[in-house]
Amino acid sequence: MFFREVIGQSLIKNQLIRSVAENRVSHALLFLGPEGCGNLAMALAFAQYVNCEDKQDITLDDGTTSADSCGKCPSCIKTKKLIHPDLHFTFPFIKDDDHELCADWMPEWRVFAEETPYANYNYWINSLTETNKQGNITSKECQDILRRLSLKNYEGIYKIQILWLPEYLREEGNRLLKLLEEPPDNTLFILVAHDAERIINTILSRVQIVKFPRLPDADVAHYLQEVWEVAPNAATSLAALAGGNLQEAIDLIDAHENANAVMIREWMEPCFRQHVKQIFAWNDQFLKLSREQQKNFFRYCLHFFREVLLLETGAPQLTRLTEAERRTAEGLGKVLGVERLMAMLELFDKCIYFVERNVNGKIMMSYVSVVLLRQFNKQIQTTQPFYDRWAL
Ligand SMILES: [Zn+2]
Repeated sequence: MFFREVIGQSLIKNQLIRSVAENRVSHALLFLGPEGCGNLAMALAFAQYVNCEDKQDITLDDGTTSADSCGKCPSCIKTKKLIHPDLHFTFPFIKDDDHELCADWMPEWRVFAEETPYANYNYWINSLTETNKQGNITSKECQDILRRLSLKNYEGIYKIQILWLPEYLREEGNRLLKLLEEPPDNTLFILVAHDAERIINTILSRVQIVKFPRLPDADVAHYLQEVWEVAPNAATSLAALAGGNLQEAIDLIDAHENANAVMIREWMEPCFRQHVKQIFAWNDQFLKLSREQQKNFFRYCLHFFREVLLLETGAPQLTRLTEAERRTAEGLGKVLGVERLMAMLELFDKCIYFVERNVNGKIMMSYVSVVLLRQFNKQIQTTQPFYDRWAL
């Protein structure tokens, strides 16, 4: 992972980069911060950086420059894939006949750490088992840490041990004290934790603590817009709901889109059936939303109907619809056809314009309903009911 892929936390990034430049890297670090703040991501980026053979100065989007790993040297390539022989991981895990040590869970861990480095303990343990078993860091795993860190470095400048969630170390953690106090040469021990109160004191007193603040909402919102193409207003409200937890913000995208998808379905169905009373009942509910929420919904409509258009024009591979959205989309596409879909897009564009200009909601929605009824009415004689295919 690159430093530039870690969201925000630039003060800590700079502090770590400086410690390498000034050759005063602490050999036992504790990255401590709330869930979803990115402390595991930072540990991965730091591990890649310290062992990079060709550290670079990179110009960032905002025009400033910052140091980062090259991503191309053999060390970077192996670290990125989490297969560097001098990079070791320990984490809480489920012990069974096939899994005695963390090394036995490495394939699963690589997927987790590469794809969801902002996720928490529950996310990880639930990916390993469907039972209620609790994860743990065993005494045998601690012995194995001692064994592998006593070996010579294979190829890295540093031998690195990342220990995710030392909260799950009990008395067996005391086996590691000597190692934390007097680590072998060129060894870097990074503990990554969320809750200092659950870490045994003997460990806490032997590490240098790097405190991570929760991510600011603005950083989370920016990330949602850039990476997940969430509309700006929706990104702001999702970031506020997530409370600085990046993984939670990502999870909320799905819930948010599903809620909008259900709303579209509940709106389009009476339009198709020409149930005027139901349409006006829907309008009344809709007008209870705030103007911001109304605008977000119409933005979602624009996104959704563009995707329907893609499906209809023979580019289904380009759509980013969920399975449930796709079923609704296929039905609507068949009923409306390309020309009417274009008209619908124009209509939703107008709706955003109306909301922004504080047009009276009742008048706006009456107008919209009439247009929708007309669009569907033209087709009603010739197509089979598409709502039969709706199965959200
Ligand atoms: Zn490199």
